[in-house]
Amino acid sequence: MRVTLLSYTRDAERLCASAAHSCYSNKGASELMEEWDEAKGKRWLGSPLASGHHSVIEHASYTFSIEGCSRSMSHQLVRHRIASYSQLSQRYVSMKDAEYVTPASIAADPELERRYRELMGRIWDEYRFLSQKVPAEDARYVLPNACTTNITVTMNARELWHFFELRTCRRAQTEIREVADEMLRLARGASPLIFKNAGPPCVSRGKCPEGKMSCGKPRTELKQ
Ligand SMILES: Cc1cc2nc3c(=O)[nH]c(=O)nc-3n(C[C@H](O)[C@H](O)[C@H](O)COP(=O)(O)OP(=O)(O)OC[C@H]3O[C@@H](n4cnc5c(N)ncnc54)[C@H](O)[C@@H]3O)c2cc1C
Repeated sequence: MRVTLLSYTRDAERLCASAAHSCYSNKGASELMEEWDEAKGKRWLGSPLASGHHSVIEHASYTFSIEGCSRSMSHQLVRHRIASYSQLSQRYVSMKDAEYVTPASIAADPELERRYRELMGRIWDEYRFLSQKVPAEDARYVLPNACTTNITVTMNARELWHFFELRTCRRAQTEIREVADEMLRLARGASPLIFKNAGPPCVSRGKCPEGKMSCGKPRTELKQ
């Protein structure tokens, strides 16, 4: 599985900081954009981000390509509605090669891995057989959640913050957590002021809201 940051808003931090400060200044965002420097950026963005006024970071968008992930993971991803998606079509692209994700818990046990691999082989045999008789869009009904896919996702920075709170948390499933961790790393590299404190609530808010379901192990490795 590979996660790439394909593109993001040019001058994201300058833009969001200037938009934020334009709420408290007689100057318009166009003038503030010219005045911007990193120290001002820290002040202009730091305050709204600390107080949870995250609408100012909706002006910046980030587009990621996630390749070779499972359809199981992509189904969890697309539950996040404030986003745009483009996904490999199983209607128009033949899945003739058996490409699938094996969860680490199964890969770790030779007997489970063998049974899993054999089942995948049988599923793809049936898929190829059916594909000769009916359109790919119907043959695909036998394909498993494990089947690999590629998906392009665009989220604004506010939605990314929300996504990171839910999906970099240890309660999220391993595959989507690994995707979210990598998206966080890439987003921080692109816009460190915006994403400095993003992450699961144990990082972003300094406390876990999960009550009895809390893992009790703050993800300190994600703190900056
Ligand atoms: C650990 C974990 C376990 C999960 N288990 C299940 C499960 O068992 N079954 C299941 O079905 N799902 C499950 N989910 C998915 C979860 O319920 C959400 O669908 C998913 O996380 C998307 O989050 P969201 O709805 O907050 O955010 P997004 O869709 O990303 O939206 C962001 C925010 O926008 C606002 N918003 C968006 N749409 C609306 C709307 N229509 N009305 C009002 N406000 C809106 C909300 O404030 C929302 O938080 C699980 C998620 C996690 C992280």
